[in-house]
Amino acid sequence: MGVHGALIDHENERRSSLTGDRQTGMNRRTKIVATIGPASDSVEMLRDLIVAGVQVVRLNLSHGPIDDHLVRLERVRQAAEDVDRHVAVLADLPGPKIRAGEFPAGGARFVAGKTIRVRPGSGPSDANILHVPYPTLLNDLSPGSRVQLGDGAISMSVLEVDDVEATAKIETGGHTSGEPGVHLSSETLRLATPTDEDLELAETMANAGVEFLAVSFVRRSADLDRVRDVVAGRAQLVAKIETRSSVEYLHEIVEASDAVMVARGDLGIDCPIEDVPHLQKKIVRHCVEVGVPVITATQMLESMITAPTPTRAEVSDIANAVFDGTDAVMLSGETAIGRDPVGVVETMAKVAVRAESEASYRRWAERLGRVQRDQEYWATRSIDPITAAVTHAASLAAVDANAAAILCCTHSGRTARAMARFRPGARMIGLSPDLAMVRTMALSWGVEPLQVATYDSTDEMAASAIETALEAQKISHGDTVLILAGTASSAQQAEPLLAAGAVGAATDVLRIVSVA
Ligand code: PEP
Repeated sequence: MGVHGALIDHENERRSSLTGDRQTGMNRRTKIVATIGPASDSVEMLRDLIVAGVQVVRLNLSHGPIDDHLVRLERVRQAAEDVDRHVAVLADLPGPKIRAGEFPAGGARFVAGKTIRVRPGSGPSDANILHVPYPTLLNDLSPGSRVQLGDGAISMSVLEVDDVEATAKIETGGHTSGEPGVHLSSETLRLATPTDEDLELAETMANAGVEFLAVSFVRRSADLDRVRDVVAGRAQLVAKIETRSSVEYLHEIVEASDAVMVARGDLGIDCPIEDVPHLQKKIVRHCVEVGVPVITATQMLESMITAPTPTRAEVSDIANAVFDGTDAVMLSGETAIGRDPVGVVETMAKVAVRAESEASYRRWAERLGRVQRDQEYWATRSIDPITAAVTHAASLAAVDANAAAILCCTHSGRTARAMARFRPGARMIGLSPDLAMVRTMALSWGVEPLQVATYDSTDEMAASAIETALEAQKISHGDTVLILAGTASSAQQAEPLLAAGAVGAATDVLRIVSVA
């Protein structure tokens, strides 16, 4: 399989443990992230969306006042409680987005071949002049620079720059209206990520208790550090891969992130659009390998913003993201402003379940085991070599023991994330006493999160995990189950081991139990 091949082969290999009630969507392994907005932010609608299959709700802070998002957050909590599901909330920071001065009512048409003046400062825009409220704009432009509008559909190339304005030639024309986003190449744009506004929003949303904060236009891992300092452990960070630089420094950014988003919209503006599918596969593959949840985002069911059914290409796009092994697929405008948010989620769930039934995850697990073994030292920020070995052993043992489930007991989420890397056929239950951690696990491929009582010993933890999973009807009497945990999951248990000189690993306990 080449670097650009799908991580999970598309082949007709069905496993008994993945059939059963899959068509109901209940056992879907690929998670759904849905952006909410005016079309979907009532408590009733949120309940319907969650029941239809949404596991992570995204608040896009680029649109609307922060107070609206805080109200939405409360409604998501209410709706999730009403339907008794653990749902994570991801607040997406705007980053250094620049919007053009407003176009007149009815918008303006840009004609390819014509020239336009691009001027810094506030003021209205039209087909002859584009006002850009970014004071140092002219420092970032030189002959040959590209300026794009909106989703990149309109593009222009700078011919000359003087003290007052730049003159640009329209290369790809089109119609635009309102205050479209202005995209300058991230190589030349001097605005830093995160912006001061991002840091303020991060503080507000972390304080309000969101599980994830997405950082836009990341260029190097250091861009995440300032947000992490502000957040101080209150939320996990999602790095949006959408600049050329973030692709180049992918490994250091993934290492510094708790999750990653393939933000294909802006990625396809900053990089050649034909590179997007290849970059998507490369990013997803790396994230799965190192156990960092990855979201494939943007335009997955775009036509359903206005149409009742998806295009064939969109359905194939979702299926291919599933074959890539993505943890989650994301909806943006489809659920935020679309005509039928619930119908869109149902469509996405159905397509994902169908694709999963055709994917050969077993081969991936074997390959990842070999990769780990062949490397002298396998360790990432969250996966130490012992955890890597134990989770690999669990992926094999689950098959040999025909296990119905793998119960991942975790305080930090690391055991569940490390196990999910192998994309096991047995269902995975993530159990934590910490409610925020339980919700966070909603993003990880295949992990069904449950809250469990606190425990003091490994025996107590195993018993409590089994009881909780039985009560939630995730396992049945007569099942064989695997239990995974880390010494650090049980403070009392850890003390004698640590005193004897053992170094705690995220996952160092594997038990196989037959549930009477
Ligand atoms: C994207 O660019 O694909 C994306 C998800 O980011 P945003 O919605 O903030 O543009």
